[in-house]
Amino acid sequence: MPTLKKTDVVVIGLGATGGVAVLPLAQAGLEVVGLEAGGWLAAKDFAPDELRNNFRAWPQAAQKAQHEIPTHRPNARAPYSPRPAIHPMMNGVGGTSLHYWAQSWRLSPWDFKVVSETTKRYGASRIPKGSTIEDWPITLADLEPYYDIVEQEIGVSGKAGNINGMIDSRGNIFEGPRRREYPMPPLRWSEWHDRMASVARGIGWHPFPGPAAINTKSYGNRSGCVYHGYCNRGGCHVNAKGSTAVTTIPKAQKTGKLSVVTQAHVTAIEVDANGRVTGVTYIKDREAYFQPASVVLLATYTYENVRTLLLSKSKAFPNGLSNNHGQVGRHYFSHNQGAGVQALFPFNLNNWYGLPAQGVAIDDWADDNFDHAPLDFIGGGNMFVYSDRRPISAASMSTFGKAPAWGSAWKKFVKENADRWHNPYLQKTTLPYEDNYLDLDPTVKDPLGAPVCRITADFKDNERKIAAFMQDKMEQWYRAAGAVAVQRGPLGTMGPTTHAYGGTRMGSNPDTNVVDAWGFSHEAPNLGILGASVMGTSGAHNPTLTAQALAWRTAGHLAKNWKGIAG
Ligand SMILES: Cc1cc2nc3c(=O)[nH]c(=O)nc-3n(C[C@H](O)[C@H](O)[C@H](O)COP(=O)(O)OP(=O)(O)OC[C@H]3O[C@@H](n4cnc5c(N)ncnc54)[C@H](O)[C@@H]3O)c2cc1C
Ligand code: SF4
Repeated sequence: MPTLKKTDVVVIGLGATGGVAVLPLAQAGLEVVGLEAGGWLAAKDFAPDELRNNFRAWPQAAQKAQHEIPTHRPNARAPYSPRPAIHPMMNGVGGTSLHYWAQSWRLSPWDFKVVSETTKRYGASRIPKGSTIEDWPITLADLEPYYDIVEQEIGVSGKAGNINGMIDSRGNIFEGPRRREYPMPPLRWSEWHDRMASVARGIGWHPFPGPAAINTKSYGNRSGCVYHGYCNRGGCHVNAKGSTAVTTIPKAQKTGKLSVVTQAHVTAIEVDANGRVTGVTYIKDREAYFQPASVVLLATYTYENVRTLLLSKSKAFPNGLSNNHGQVGRHYFSHNQGAGVQALFPFNLNNWYGLPAQGVAIDDWADDNFDHAPLDFIGGGNMFVYSDRRPISAASMSTFGKAPAWGSAWKKFVKENADRWHNPYLQKTTLPYEDNYLDLDPTVKDPLGAPVCRITADFKDNERKIAAFMQDKMEQWYRAAGAVAVQRGPLGTMGPTTHAYGGTRMGSNPDTNVVDAWGFSHEAPNLGILGASVMGTSGAHNPTLTAQALAWRTAGHLAKNWKGIAG
């Protein structure tokens, strides 16, 4: 196997987080090699085509990820769940930030201190039994400068609700303090959004526009959004979406310090006898290469982060890299996104144009923004009423018990109502538990013969109670807006997902965490880990901006402490 020229840093995976981390490293003058399993995609590759994007899963269907879809079982005694046909995540320069919805949320102050804040307000007994939750080793204030940098670099639009403690009710009054306004104003609202916001205010809630890594005007050299309606699993054909492929990665390349190697499938991270990382092995065009590096940053999304570590066995780490304390794969959880609600209205919503990041958010029932004393759960949910109506999904609507599910009466019902129904995005707190974890599947393998990741996880009582509570609140909102029928969906279980957390959790205690407060391994000091796999709580908001802020912070820490970490 050829050994390549040694570099300062290898970043494995140039997605949402690895693609951010390369910029501060390159700007600090470090030589960076980015090894990415996918290739470059350009605006011309992104067609507004629901069949291709959402059903035939282009381009993921033909990619590495497709052969490594994690298996799932709700618990160690349960049979496996059906394996999904399509991996949600992307291989490509930019990773899943190419086709994600781009909602770009910060966590709330409570999310970093769930154990201590819950104990202080309600007593220690309110932490659900069996949960392994810990306070983060950092606070929102520690992460705020990095949220700010990333918002500026990738271009986030929104309306601030708390600038240095000054509350502005046009934004999210529950957010933690931020140093300044968003780089761009929020995505516009339609008449439908205005109606939902006005109804929410009428019942005493605090609606605001959701933040998005989507340009609302020209930003840098990129266009504003044209609200064309195929943003959900579609890349942006005008580069208005702030994917790292069009923001931080090209900026890092311009420094001359970043080399991007595409179609490079990393199979293992190598270590020496002292347990220090020496570089990575990867396969490109069927050839294996060893890329030596002083420091390795792993950024392959939660499932592959855990899998790569567990597959990287050595004398120093017989159970997988950085796993001598048995913590790799533990404290896994995924966002509680099920338990949906659907509503039927007696008027058209005009949702044919628009995008899923464009909408009205409510945080009154998120996190600890309301009194839980009379309740029997902790946490809550964000409610998001958004625009996204594509022909096939519109015609897949429920008939709400008002028409048969086939034949001419069904066709007539769908024709009249395809633009009269809505379902919100409800993201709810999930906690980590001792029996929810990731490991290697004993039988299912990828084409290279390596086991895929196995998820053993299910929602518990706390999540089920939040789900029912949030469905009540959503029904209240829809009914107040004039819904003539409302129905509820099941919570489901915790199969492979786009919001997967934990497995390499960040914390000060090496007995219960894989990485330290800066994102570096407790056991292999020149290995950093990026992505939501380091997050110990999810809050009620999408993970990516937080994972990107953490990635910048880890990379910045490395650049500042180069000698100490690189050795
Ligand atoms: C349809 C959809 C909508 C979403 N919407 C939102 C949203 O609105 N807001 C939000 O916050 N989040 C959203 N997400 C989630 C978001 O995409 C992820 O949180 C984010 O992309 C994770 O960043 P990451 O860097 O960990 O992983 P990714 O962005 O997936 O990047 C991982 C990279 O690693 C590469 N890689 C993997 N294995 C290897 C290997 N062995 N060797 C080399 N390279 C490898 C992959 O090719 C990929 O480029 C959405 C996801 C999907 C699928
Ligand atoms: S809706 Fe806007 S951001 Fe999304 S793909 Fe279309 S133009 Fe790009």
